[in-house]
Amino acid sequence: MSNTDFLLAIEDLSVSFDGFKAIDTLNLYLDRGELRVVIGPNGAGKTTLLDLICGRTAPTHGSIKFKNQEMTVLPEFKIVRAGIGRKFQTPSIYENLSVFKNLEVSFPRGRGVFGALAFRCTPDVRERIEQVAEEIGLAALLMSEAGLLSHGQKQWLEIGMLLMQDPELLMLDEPIAGMSVREREITAELLTKICRDRSMIVIEHDMEFVQRIAHKVTVLHQGKILAEGQMDAVQNDPRVIDVYLGH
Ligand code: ADP
Repeated sequence: MSNTDFLLAIEDLSVSFDGFKAIDTLNLYLDRGELRVVIGPNGAGKTTLLDLICGRTAPTHGSIKFKNQEMTVLPEFKIVRAGIGRKFQTPSIYENLSVFKNLEVSFPRGRGVFGALAFRCTPDVRERIEQVAEEIGLAALLMSEAGLLSHGQKQWLEIGMLLMQDPELLMLDEPIAGMSVREREITAELLTKICRDRSMIVIEHDMEFVQRIAHKVTVLHQGKILAEGQMDAVQNDPRVIDVYLGH
């Protein structure tokens, strides 16, 4: 497979903060339809890696190609437009608005102030909202106030807000933090379903959850890839046990 066949191809990526290398000459390739989980001890560089991919942080060196287009030269909003969506750990939904409105405001609008003002909830947008609400299991709660949802439902709503932008790659930072066992199960099913026609990078600590959802696991340590592959192989790798799983 050549590097141009991957959805995402990261090569020689480095970023330094005051001389400290948070990401150090990293290469990572993601297939279309792949669900990759990134694990690693605190401070390994996981969040920084997602920050680099979504354009929040500029690299010191290296390349990030998404569908063969260089992302490191683009501002954050153009990276979103190119098809990369990012969800942070804390939900950032509009608590006072309904589930419907939260999804509606996440629909991509025309450019600039005029594009935003000209926006109308057309039948197409309504249909998209209903599809997404169905996908995230909130179809029966479309008119409910988002602030009244459970913690898990808020997380799913935020994933739905990302889906409204129709990204080809979703990046999620610890999506099951604070969830009940049942909510975790539903989230595993949701992420698996989403990856039928999209790709995903997930940062996660819960190994049972990782085992359940990951197609492939990347272990980061001190800004470098320590191990990569199927979960079974990775978790039996002595280097991984030494720096991470064994602790
Ligand atoms: P992880 O998500 O794996 O816990 P991070 O990516 O948050 O790790 O951080 C990796 C390292 O980079 C840490 O040592 C952190 O302190 C450092 N770091 C991250 N962002 C910055 C920043 N903006 N300025 C200085 N240091 C940073």
